[in-house]
Amino acid sequence: MRPETRAVHAGNAPDPASGAVAPPIQLATSFVHGPAAERHAGPEGGHEYQRESHPTQSRLEEALAAVEGGAAALAFASGMAAIHAILSSLPRGSRVLVPRDVYSGTRVLAREFLPELAIEPVFVDPTDLAAVRAALAEGAACVWIETPSNPRLEVCDIAAIAEAAHASGAIVACDNTFATPVLQNPLALGADVVMHSTTKYLGGHSDVMGGALVFARRDALVERIAHRRHLTGATLAPFNAWLILRGIRTLHVRVAQHCRNARAIAGFLAAHPKVARIHYPGLASDPGHTVASRQMRDYGGMISFAPVGGREAALAICRRVSLFTNATSLGGVESLIEHRASVEGVRPVTPDDLLRLSVGLEHPDDLIADLAQALDGAGY
Ligand SMILES: *Cc1c(COP(=O)(O)O)cnc(C)c1O
Repeated sequence: MRPETRAVHAGNAPDPASGAVAPPIQLATSFVHGPAAERHAGPEGGHEYQRESHPTQSRLEEALAAVEGGAAALAFASGMAAIHAILSSLPRGSRVLVPRDVYSGTRVLAREFLPELAIEPVFVDPTDLAAVRAALAEGAACVWIETPSNPRLEVCDIAAIAEAAHASGAIVACDNTFATPVLQNPLALGADVVMHSTTKYLGGHSDVMGGALVFARRDALVERIAHRRHLTGATLAPFNAWLILRGIRTLHVRVAQHCRNARAIAGFLAAHPKVARIHYPGLASDPGHTVASRQMRDYGGMISFAPVGGREAALAICRRVSLFTNATSLGGVESLIEHRASVEGVRPVTPDDLLRLSVGLEHPDDLIADLAQALDGAGY
């Protein structure tokens, strides 16, 4: 079965109770069991209490495993809940390699929370394989990667990192939020776990929060993390599970258009005299282009760029755009622009001239016209 077909059909069996073609939202917090607490064995049985599992979440997990080619999936209340669940389950006294360019929440969690659990984060440049190997030689339980990365769109070689990590006994977990399962399947390239902020492209409409982990094998790690989710209450709410499941049905068509629009905008920005730098792996001049062309099917809907004129010019562009909305997050139908350094709080690591674009589903000519007037009129 092709990926588009899987995305439409996985976890979408008609409701056994009503025959409904669209999945029901099951809101129950408690599920009937036998007198000796044996679980109900009906068509959607096996559930006991919503915090542990529930039918709508199970349908979503079936779909997530199918679209990523995994053996099991766990859904979470947010991407950060998923990241916390896996990183906090690493052995005490272990080290985890974390990319220097990574989602800011991941960086702060690694820096502030992991040491409390006696887990040491080691920040590396994952695009430098020699640096990854050197860090692995000193021991690590897990290599966390994010490719393309947020916000600099850096691309690391998943297969090469998986090979090096496995040779030294570490697992590889890949944040696949930017690429989506449509463009990149890290498990097929050797990663052990894939993480998604389903808040972004999978939900796809900026109206639902969720996270996911998809596993290459159904083994003790899945059980350990499912147990953590159950006891820490990081479960996804039924309505959110339903919305994300609905988002997955149209993921392929949306991502294809996000990619087309981003390619057009990247071409425009790369040729614009007031653009000093652009990060987009689809450009032949981008340092990540070769690896991205090998491990991705297209280059995604995210771009970051720095205008000539530094921070003030970047902020002037944010003030002048009218179609792009100044807002955080990404992966929705509407185009967003963000000056990342301003939202990273204390100790921002993103260059203060960098703007991040989440390219939406508007007509690319309208988006380009908006950026053109903002660049031309930014007054520098
Ligand atoms: C948004 C995001 C996260 C965090 O997910 P939430 O759903 O906001 O908790 C993690 N990684 C990446 C790449 C993201 O963009």
